[in-house]
Amino acid sequence: MMPEIQAGFHVDLGRGRVLLAGDAACLLNPMGEGVSSALASGYAAAEAIKSSENPTDILHKYHENLKPEIEYMARQWQFLGTISPNFNYYK
Ligand SMILES: Cc1cc2nc3c(=O)[nH]c(=O)nc-3n(C[C@H](O)[C@H](O)[C@H](O)COP(=O)(O)OP(=O)(O)OC[C@H]3O[C@@H](n4cnc5c(N)ncnc54)[C@H](O)[C@@H]3O)c2cc1C
Repeated sequence: MMPEIQAGFHVDLGRGRVLLAGDAACLLNPMGEGVSSALASGYAAAEAIKSSENPTDILHKYHENLKPEIEYMARQWQFLGTISPNFNYYK
C-alpha cells in the first residue's frame, strides 16, 4: 500500500456531507502506520461533527482539524526520502 499512498498523493477527506477517514482518505503516516492515521482522522471527523452547528461547515472544520496531521505526515515522507530513494515519493 505504501507505494500507492504518498505525501504528495491526493488526500481526499470527502465531499459535501460525506467525510472520508483512514485508508479511504489515502492517509498514511509512514512512521505511525495506517492505524494511527485512521484514529487521528476518525477523531478529527468526530470533533468536526460535534463542533459544527451547520452541516455545511463540517467538511471545512474536518480539513482544519486534520491539517497538522497531514503536514506531519508529509514531513515524515520527506524525511524518509532523504534516507532511502525507495521512500522518495514526495515530490
Ligand atoms: C496485512 C495488513 C497488515 C497491516 N499491519 C498494520 C500494522 O501493523 N500497523 C498499522 O498501523 N497498520 C497496519 N495495517 C494498515 C491498517 O490495517 C489500516 O491502515 C487501518 O485498518 C485503516 O483503518 P480504516 O478504518 O481506514 O479502514 P479498515 O480498517 O479497512 O475499515 C474499513 C471497514 O469498512 C468496511 N467496509 C468496506 N466497504 C463497506 C461497505 N460498502 N459497507 C459497509 N462497510 C464497509 C470494511 O469491512 C472494514 O471493516 C495493515 C494492513 C494490512 C492489510
